[in-house]
Amino acid sequence: MSKAPSARTREIVAQRADRGGWPVCERCGTHRGANLHHRRPRQMSGSTDPATNLPSNLLLLCGSGTTGCHGWIELHRAVGYQHGWLLRSWQVPIDTPVRIHDRGLVVLDDIGGMTPTLPLGGVA
Ligand SMILES: [Zn+2]
Repeated sequence: MSKAPSARTREIVAQRADRGGWPVCERCGTHRGANLHHRRPRQMSGSTDPATNLPSNLLLLCGSGTTGCHGWIELHRAVGYQHGWLLRSWQVPIDTPVRIHDRGLVVLDDIGGMTPTLPLGGVA
């Protein structure tokens, strides 16, 4: 059982984040995307849901676990859940919208695409 995203998956996410020749952070759009973030965290147990390491569950973010957008989300988890950057264990990544810096609220698929969705209500 693979515990990390495959090379192909990393490539798909990097292409999805590409703006003008290099991958930018999918949250801020400003800094280089450096770090793959799991929207729905890996489970502590050894058995991993295959969806965990698919593109729809991954975001390319700037920073690391403690810096940049990656660190920011870890420090602001309530806001993370609100924007789909973090998911609860029962949420399905491919069905749950996420806010991307220049696309608004979208649904990610597992082949690098994103589909716009209507806001569920007054998101500032
Ligand atoms: Zn960022």
